[in-house]
Amino acid sequence: MTEKRYLDESAVTTFEATVADAGSDGVVLDRTYFYPTGGGQPHDTGVLRDEAGESYRVVDVRGRETVRHVVDGEPPEPGTTVTGEIDAARRRAHSRYHTAQHVLSAVLLDEFDAETTGNQLYADRARLDCAHERFDDGDLTALEAAVNGVLDAGHDVEWYTLDRETAEQRLDRERTRLDLLPDSVTEVRIVDIGGGEVDRTACAGTHVENTKEVGSFVVTGRETAGSGEERVRFELRES
Ligand SMILES: [Zn+2]
Repeated sequence: MTEKRYLDESAVTTFEATVADAGSDGVVLDRTYFYPTGGGQPHDTGVLRDEAGESYRVVDVRGRETVRHVVDGEPPEPGTTVTGEIDAARRRAHSRYHTAQHVLSAVLLDEFDAETTGNQLYADRARLDCAHERFDDGDLTALEAAVNGVLDAGHDVEWYTLDRETAEQRLDRERTRLDLLPDSVTEVRIVDIGGGEVDRTACAGTHVENTKEVGSFVVTGRETAGSGEERVRFELRES
């Protein structure tokens, strides 16, 4: 099991670690800040460098318990000390989009009673599916304004881990969507926006520290994603 440092320190993009295992399915480090694909957020990319100056390009990162860094070419030997360098611009874009998605999900629930059913973000765009019959142009304009209102208010974004029992007792179960987690999950990482006033959700992704860092939110389209389901596409602009 890899120590997943990105869960606590989401802004760190350079770190030292030791190769615990290496094979054709990837390099396992004792600790990592590389984010593995999951929760609608793509994996980080970057490079591992050993002390001899050899570098290994990280092209894919996967796994939830044991994180595997897939590298181009021959991997470094177990026991090697490496410096990991994460593509900081790509990570930052993912974090901005992920925080925007949480705000959008909260606004959809508050204003449209529409529960989020899926989401996928990239470094330059994202989409979100929700349980709603049909958004018209007026709805989308209102949605955009409401999301930007929350982002502009400059709410702090915080994350922390609770044991599952405490989380289930203390937190609003519908909003945190704890029921969606497999039974094997005993610790829950929570992401709070505005001290929980805006949103409080179980999430293992990376986020910015304040909603102002997200930029401005632009709806770029909508389509029907299935019976009673709408898909909303959006992009962020630096503001
Ligand atoms: Zn999330």
